[in-house]
Amino acid sequence: MSLMRLAYASEATFDAKPVEKGVEPHVARILMTSRKNNAKDQLVGGLYYGNDRFFQYLEGDEDAVRRTYDRILKDERHRNVVTLIEEPLSSRTFSNWSMKYVPLSRDVRNFLDEQGLESFDPASFTSDQCERMIDLIRNSSHDQNLANHDNRQSVGEAPQVLSSGMKVSLIVAGLVLVGALVIGGSML
Ligand code: FAD
Repeated sequence: MSLMRLAYASEATFDAKPVEKGVEPHVARILMTSRKNNAKDQLVGGLYYGNDRFFQYLEGDEDAVRRTYDRILKDERHRNVVTLIEEPLSSRTFSNWSMKYVPLSRDVRNFLDEQGLESFDPASFTSDQCERMIDLIRNSSHDQNLANHDNRQSVGEAPQVLSSGMKVSLIVAGLVLVGALVIGGSML
C-alpha cells in the first residue's frame, strides 16, 4: 500500500451563517461527512476554515486520498480549488484523527502576523507556509470544543452552556420546589 499526502486551498461558495459559538453550519456538515468517510478509509488530516477560505490536508492510502479528492473537487460548496501539495509519503504523521478541525483562530492569527500576511488566503501560501499550517493542524488538540474561526474563546476556557441568568432562575426554581415539598410534606 503506498501512502500519499495532499493539501489544497479553496473558496467557500456559501454565505457563512453568523454563529456565536460552535462551527459554521455548512462547515459542520462537511466535517460530519468527512469524519464518517475518512475514518472508514483510514484517512487522516485536518481542515481549517476562515475568511471564507478552506485549507485542507489529507494523508493516507494513495487510492483513498485520490478518490476522496475527486469527490471534494466536485463539491459545489467551494470553488477555485488549488492543489498545494500532492506527493508520496513514507509514513503517517497524524495519529487517531479522521479529520481534525482547527477550532481556534488564535494560532492561525499568530501565524499570519508572524508571516506578515494580512488575511487568510491559503491559495497563495508558499510551501513553507503550507508546512506551518499542517503543523498547526497536527498540534491542535482542542477538537472537542469545536468553534468557528471568529470564536475568541480562550484555550482551556470551559464552554458556557448556561447563562448566569439561567443559572439564577434554576436555583430559584429549585428552592421553590424544595419549599413546596417541605410545605406539602408538613400538611400530610
Ligand atoms: P453524502 O451521503 O452524499 O452526503 C453527506 C451529507 O453532505 C448529506 O447530508 C448531504 O446533504 C451533504 N452534501 C453532500 N454534498 C453536498 C453539496 N454539494 N451541497 C450541500 N450539501 C451536500 N468528504 C470526505 O469524505 N472527506 C473529506 O475530507 C472531505 N473534505 C471536504 C472539504 C471541503 C472543503 C468540502 C467542501 C467538502 C469535503 N468533503 C469531504 C465532502 C465531499 O465533497 C463529498 O460531499 C462527500 O465526500 C460525499 O460523501 P458521501 O457520498 O458519503 O456523502
